[in-house]
Amino acid sequence: MTDRIYSTDAYAAQMRATVVGVDQDDGRILLDRTVFYPGGGGQPCDEGELWIGEDRLIVTRVAQDSAGVWHWVEGGLPSEGTELEGKVDWDRRYMLMRTHTAMHALCGVIWERFQSPVTGGNMNPGEGRLDFELPQWDPDDKGPIEAELNRQLACNRDVEVSFLPREEADLDPSLIRTKVNLLPPTLKEVRVIDIVGLDRQADGGTHVSATNEVGQIRIKKVESKGKGFRRIRVELTTPS
Ligand SMILES: [Zn+2]
Repeated sequence: MTDRIYSTDAYAAQMRATVVGVDQDDGRILLDRTVFYPGGGGQPCDEGELWIGEDRLIVTRVAQDSAGVWHWVEGGLPSEGTELEGKVDWDRRYMLMRTHTAMHALCGVIWERFQSPVTGGNMNPGEGRLDFELPQWDPDDKGPIEAELNRQLACNRDVEVSFLPREEADLDPSLIRTKVNLLPPTLKEVRVIDIVGLDRQADGGTHVSATNEVGQIRIKKVESKGKGFRRIRVELTTPS
């Protein structure tokens, strides 16, 4: 298994690591530790570089399975036991952390106003969308919701990461509404992201540590997805 540095320290942009597995057919390597996020929960995987001495390998894709975190590389596969240095594309990753945190703020604000759970979502650096079951949405809601979102972000709320035993997570009301019950039953520990006082979710992604790092955001569009479902698209308006 890979030590997932991003899971406890989202701000770590570099690591030293050792190659512990090589998949020649797929052009990918398994590392003993990594700062590269493998994607999931709507957040795309990281990109970046691995360095072996003066030799640079480009990381084109990252994904995880039961063996650990795999890194697809361009530029020839190193052999097992090779020590290397890794660097994520930090500008892109930090933008994703800000975007991801904005998505949580949107969840929190929609929940407070409508008690509607999120049903899906996706993001790219600087913009994202979330789907809600929201039959009571009125076009006039857009302005006030956007203002409330920006007010909440400007409050500079802490974003905390913690790990809860599964039995405890299964009983937490805010986690139940974000479908902690859909997590695989074999999962013994649940990672929780808490924007203190606004939103709490079981989540594997990377986030900023306080909401003012997100800056201001804009609701780009609210689309009807049929039968009371709405898709809300937001974008960051504060540059990095
Ligand atoms: Zn998240």
